[in-house]
Amino acid sequence: MGGFFGVASKGDCSFDLFFGTDYHSHLGTRRAGMAVYGENGFSRTIHNIESTPFRTKFEKELRDLKGHYGVGVISDYEAQPILMRSHHGTFAVVTVGKINNAADIVAEIIKTGAHFFEMGNGEINATELVGAMINQKENFIDGIRYALDRIEGSLSLLILTEKGIYAARDKLGRTPVVLGKRADSRCACFESYSFQNLEYEPDRELGPGEIVVFDENRCTTLVQPGSKRKVCTFLWVYYGYPAAIYEGVNVEEMRYRCGRNLARRDSVEADSVAGVPDSGTAHAVGYANESGIPFSRPFIKYTPTWPRSFMPTIQERRNLIAHMKLLPVHELIRDKRLLLIDDSIVRGTQLRETTEFLYQSGAAEVHIRPACPPLLFGCKYLNFSRSNSEMELIARVVIRELEGGEVSPEVLQEYADPNSEKYERMVEGIRQKLNFTSLRFNRLDDMLDAVGIDHDSLCTYCWNGKE
Ligand code: SF4
Repeated sequence: MGGFFGVASKGDCSFDLFFGTDYHSHLGTRRAGMAVYGENGFSRTIHNIESTPFRTKFEKELRDLKGHYGVGVISDYEAQPILMRSHHGTFAVVTVGKINNAADIVAEIIKTGAHFFEMGNGEINATELVGAMINQKENFIDGIRYALDRIEGSLSLLILTEKGIYAARDKLGRTPVVLGKRADSRCACFESYSFQNLEYEPDRELGPGEIVVFDENRCTTLVQPGSKRKVCTFLWVYYGYPAAIYEGVNVEEMRYRCGRNLARRDSVEADSVAGVPDSGTAHAVGYANESGIPFSRPFIKYTPTWPRSFMPTIQERRNLIAHMKLLPVHELIRDKRLLLIDDSIVRGTQLRETTEFLYQSGAAEVHIRPACPPLLFGCKYLNFSRSNSEMELIARVVIRELEGGEVSPEVLQEYADPNSEKYERMVEGIRQKLNFTSLRFNRLDDMLDAVGIDHDSLCTYCWNGKE
């Protein structure tokens, strides 16, 4: 996914930039960077954060990073910010999103005489590509508009210039951009809580496709927002931090409602309700409050030495690390009928291991209640670890087994319908494969109701394939 923070200040912005960016650390695990503009011109720093958290990695450089304007980014993929010099002057760009038609756009731009550096894997850095697209047009406004319109996927961005910072939200608003203000400064970011502890007040959220420019004194809208939006629903279900607010809806509260809606359709008998930490916990609180079944924590996440950003890229190791982060409380597991809520089931590997571990620790029953419906489609819009590899999704694996191979989009739609016989068979197939005592997914309408905004404004592609 990734997240960013941009700040324009009367004084030095580096303290706000450092902590504002750090508050986006849950959104990415690969790279992070900051760029500032001040009396000494532009400066930039980028680091790999796969094994060391942002603050530890950047704190030594904080002393040298001085300026009035700055942008910072936590990236789940490419190195950023990209610092460029063109007919626009020097600027730094940071992005959140995914470009599916990058090859076509690169070919078009190369024809104009431009060139790109290749990353180690032969790909072009997506943020550099966005910068190159902006350079294709006369001015920043036309360039940003062109980039938002031309890419297939999604794109939100910040651009640091000598005169201020441009902020643009994806044309369908899949990811958020929020503005904050303080007497001496203004900021724009992905997570609104990132500026609240820095004593900024929330100003407003950008609308879909809206482009603004701001400095320390004012923020001006350059392109008005569009009316259609498709905000990523997974922001509330899984990705967002509990304190985050998107479209006026707090993540933690949405998860309580999500768990409540799950409980309202359920009649299973269990001794306790637990959530798979971290995101499953709030869904479980909502379920427990509604059902009257006590909430408990039969396993606890060991956080002191396992920062979230540490995730090895090899799958076997990832599973082992995920497992090692959890410590059992045997007294809460032995002979108990446990109801366990996770935000979603992707491949199912980790949840199966967790379930096995609970049985081995003496659990009598393990009932699984994912907070969202079965994932049937890989996300096309974001670098989103929950559903990137469509063929490996457990629901698709089971459908292939039931149908003897790949199926048409029409048949997939039948599997997405919670009232269909095919859906029942798929859920039972998943339950058997992962060895749960029982399995019941949240319904799409119940999950969307839990967000509480117009259903049409929410992206549901990974559950029903609808764009
Ligand atoms: S497909 Fe899923 S993960 Fe991707 S933007 Fe839509 S809701 Fe979010």
